Amino acid sequence: MSRDILSLMENWDGQGVVVRHDRPTGTWIFIALHDSTLGRPSGGTRMKVYPALADALEDAMRLAEGMTYKWAGLKTAFGGGKAVLAVPRPLEGAEREGLLLRYGDLIETLNGAFGTGADLGAGPDAMAIVARRTGYVLGIAADGSARDPGPFTAHGVLCGLRAALGEVFGSDDPAGRKVLIQGVGDVGEPLARALAKGGAELLLSDIDEAKAAKLAAGLGAAVVPAGEVYGTVCDVYAPCAVGATVNERTIPQLKCRVVAGSANNQLRVDEDAERLHRRGIVYAPDYIINAGGALAFSLMLEGGWDDKALFRRTAGIGDAVRDILREASASKSSPLAAARARVDRMLAERRATAVAG
Ligand code: NAD
Repeated sequence: MSRDILSLMENWDGQGVVVRHDRPTGTWIFIALHDSTLGRPSGGTRMKVYPALADALEDAMRLAEGMTYKWAGLKTAFGGGKAVLAVPRPLEGAEREGLLLRYGDLIETLNGAFGTGADLGAGPDAMAIVARRTGYVLGIAADGSARDPGPFTAHGVLCGLRAALGEVFGSDDPAGRKVLIQGVGDVGEPLARALAKGGAELLLSDIDEAKAAKLAAGLGAAVVPAGEVYGTVCDVYAPCAVGATVNERTIPQLKCRVVAGSANNQLRVDEDAERLHRRGIVYAPDYIINAGGALAFSLMLEGGWDDKALFRRTAGIGDAVRDILREASASKSSPLAAARARVDRMLAERRATAVAG
C-alpha cells in the first residue's frame, strides 16, 4: 500500500476498512466501517473514477464518518459506513454487472457487518443488481426492485428549509421567498417543483444549463449561470449538486440568509460553519437536512410502510433542523457545532450504557 493510504489508515478514528481488489475489472473496493455504536454500519456505495487510490479511500472514510452523524442525528439504529468502488474507467454492461454481483457477494460474506444503498454512480439500478447476491441492501422493494431515494430526500430538504425560514424570518412559508437551487437532478428537481407549488420565487442553476432552462420554463423560474451562483441575491441558497461549494472563497460572496440543500459535505472544512455563523447566515447541517432518503429506506426495512406514511415521517427532518437551530441560537454556537454536540452526547450515552450493561 502506498504511504498515503497507510497514513490515512493510521489517522482514522473508524473501526476498520475492508479492502478488496476486483481483478476482472481492476476496481479497488473500500468498505469503510466508522462506528457501530447505534447499529450496523450502513451507507451508500459510490462508484467513481478517482485521480488516485488514496482519494478513493479518503472519500470512503469521510463519508462513513458523515453517516455515523447522519444516522445518530435521525435516532435510527444504524452505524456509520460507506463503500467506494474505485473503478479504473467508467464501466458498462456485463462488466459493470459482474463487478456489482461480486461486490454483493463480498457484502454477503461480511455477514451483516455492513449494509448499503444507492449513491453517486451506483443508483437504484446498481443496487437492484447488488441485491441479487445479498440481503444487506437498503431501499429494495418487496418485488426486488430498487427505490429511488431522491423524492424522499427532496421532501426532507423542503421541510428542513422551511424550518430554517421559520427561524430566520418568523414564518416557514416559502411563498415569495427567493430560493436558488444549484443542481436540478434527482433531488433538486422535485425540490424545485415543491417550492414552486408553495409559491417560492425560484432561481435554478445547473452545470447542464439546458436542463436548468427546461425545468425553469415549466415552473416559471429564472436561470442563474453556473458561475454566478454565489453572488446572486436570494433568501436561500440550496446546494443540491456537488460538495465543498461553501468555503473560504465563496462565503464572503454569498448574498443569502440561509444555506439549506441536499449536497453531501457542503462545507469544505468545519471552520466554514463558523464563517457562515459570523456572517449571520443560517446553515442547516447537510447530514441532517439531506437524510430523508436514508430515513425512508431505514423504515422500509421494517416493512409495513406505504409511501404516504414514509413521506409523513420524512417531514420529521424539519423538526430535527428546527431543534438544532434553536439549540445553536441558545448556545450562541453554529448549527454544525450544535448538531455535533447533540450527536456526540447521544453516542457517548449509548456507549456508557453498553459498557454498564
Ligand atoms: P444528480 O446527479 O441526480 O443531480 C445533480 C445535478 O447537479 C445534475 O443535474 C448535475 O448536472 C448538476 N451538477 C453537477 N455538478 C454541478 C456543478 N458543479 N454546478 C452546478 N450543477 C452541477 O444527484 P442527486 O441525487 O440529485 O444528488 C445531489 C446532491 O445531493 C449530491 O451531493 C448527493 O450526494 C446529495 N444527496 C442525494 C441524495 C439522494 O437521495 N439522491 C441523498 C442525500 C444526499
